[in-house]
Amino acid sequence: MQHPAPLANCPSYRGRFAPSPSGPLHLGSLFTALASFLDARSQGGEWLVRIDDIDPYRTQPGAADRILSSLESLGLTWDRSVVYQSQRLERYRTGLDALRDQGLIYACDCSRRELAEERTDSPPGVYPGFCRHKQLAPQPENQALRLVTGDVVIQFEDRIQGPVKQVMDREIGDFIVYRRDGAFAYHLATVIDDAEQGVTDVVRGQDLLDSTPRQIYLQQRLKLPTPKYAHVPILLNAEGQKLSKRTLAAEAETRYPGRLLGYLLRLLQHPLPAGMEAAATGEILDWAIRHWQLARLRHVGAMMPKTTPFSL
Ligand SMILES: [Zn+2]
Repeated sequence: MQHPAPLANCPSYRGRFAPSPSGPLHLGSLFTALASFLDARSQGGEWLVRIDDIDPYRTQPGAADRILSSLESLGLTWDRSVVYQSQRLERYRTGLDALRDQGLIYACDCSRRELAEERTDSPPGVYPGFCRHKQLAPQPENQALRLVTGDVVIQFEDRIQGPVKQVMDREIGDFIVYRRDGAFAYHLATVIDDAEQGVTDVVRGQDLLDSTPRQIYLQQRLKLPTPKYAHVPILLNAEGQKLSKRTLAAEAETRYPGRLLGYLLRLLQHPLPAGMEAAATGEILDWAIRHWQLARLRHVGAMMPKTTPFSL
């Protein structure tokens, strides 16, 4: 794959927030957005917003606009135009072709049920490579495309979580880059976009920590740069599940932006000085940018917020 043309006026830090518009922004995504925003701004960096609407089956009409207006109402303003993954399918196809040219792609027609029932020596969730040598004739219908892994060791130093290491074939297996329902896989789209947008730093939820080696592996195969990563703690609901659209987390109420920012900052281990929640969002964010220290999140596990900002 061609290196993306260097962007003019390339800052030394460019961060991004990339929500999927499968519903409105809940507290958990805003928590991550704020961490990513503050980390970028505290280093004089740019902050981009990308709408990860690569999965047509999960995209909800109108959700992207609501997400953007939630960010705006908290004063989380972004640089450059918002990028939509659904408009970039050609780029992902080029990336897939580059992997295919290296002989790293094969078709797989295993169903989920077959994979669940088959007895193998592979740990659960690791694809045992059934189709690697089948050389199935390419048919776009009902076939996934997988990327060959091998005994490659991927390691990186997460800015919050410390060292991470995975052996690709043993811990992940050949993974899907193009889904049988005809959508490009999230990891492929993400690494292509991060590289093309010149993202230097990714700050996102800890639930994605285990997928990062897959993304780094893809970057290496596509000769793309690897950004720095920081995975922030996730927020849980009262049942101990990650706050997400899937667990029906409610849209974050942004009617009182100062209180909401104060609440999120407390969870981010940066409590506002007394009385400051009544200040304008710009003033609150300026304070947070000046005081931001990502390292404060280092020993914080997943959090179960006991109250919402509006019962305070
Ligand atoms: Zn298969």
